[in-house]
Amino acid sequence: MSRINDDCFVVKGKLALPYQYFAGRTGSRFLIALRDENKILGVKCKKCEKVFVPPRSTCETCLSDISDSWQEVKPTGVVTGFTVVRYEEPHQPVKPPFIQALIKLDGADTPFVHIVKGVSASQMKNGLKVKAVFKKKKDSTSTIADIDHFRADQKAAQRQIGYTYEELEIGMSASFTKTISETDVYLFAGISGDFNPLHMDEEYAKKGPFGTRVAHGSLAQNLIAPVLGMKLPGLGTMALEVTTRFRAPTYFGDTITATGEIVEKLPDKKWVKLALTWTNQKGEVIGTGSALVMPPVAPPE
Ligand SMILES: [Zn+2]
Repeated sequence: MSRINDDCFVVKGKLALPYQYFAGRTGSRFLIALRDENKILGVKCKKCEKVFVPPRSTCETCLSDISDSWQEVKPTGVVTGFTVVRYEEPHQPVKPPFIQALIKLDGADTPFVHIVKGVSASQMKNGLKVKAVFKKKKDSTSTIADIDHFRADQKAAQRQIGYTYEELEIGMSASFTKTISETDVYLFAGISGDFNPLHMDEEYAKKGPFGTRVAHGSLAQNLIAPVLGMKLPGLGTMALEVTTRFRAPTYFGDTITATGEIVEKLPDKKWVKLALTWTNQKGEVIGTGSALVMPPVAPPE
């Protein structure tokens, strides 16, 4: 090693850099209303029918000047996305771990970021209702932190229900995957009473259309039940109609994925329609269909 390297010392340090900036005309009015009146203001683009929170002077869609169409939104909203922060940084508002979430306030069309308390990381979920808890006036910092945090509706967090009609959106999807074993086929034969030798007797099935035993079609079809009943919409859902068109057989050992996607909302009945697809491990579509379901209804608060 050379002398030059031996003489090099790296001194690590950090500089504090105090700074200030003008929050802007729009930002200032937002922060003042928050601080002095505990009101959360947004601006509405009347052309696009969209309310922006935090407010902005220009509509992001049509670029109209919307800086004067103020509108108060509610201090309540729903979580549309979240993360659990576990590392520590000096500028964080609270000590980790904490939940940082995207919150869409009631009356707003855009989500904004804040901290959620009153719910454990394991119970945190999208769709959870939250309510702003404002800082005491004497602790005001004239920043977004004048909302100290959003408090989760604990009852709703513990409530075991799936997505309600209002929370469901077209395009949402969920899947369930299972490998179909010989045991599954035998158990299903016992449950359904369908001991057709096409499913049970290899020598018989060899002479059949598939050249080997295949699983009951309805066994693969039923893999949609955990999707509808436990994921999307989830617990509390009632299935009204499930249709399936079988397109290919399920062989023993095949891994089948059943997927449901919300394709239509029926506002008069508050039912939803899902498009269903069943695929095997090769990506082949073995079935397609549709489901009509009644999503769970949230109990009154
Ligand atoms: Zn617009």
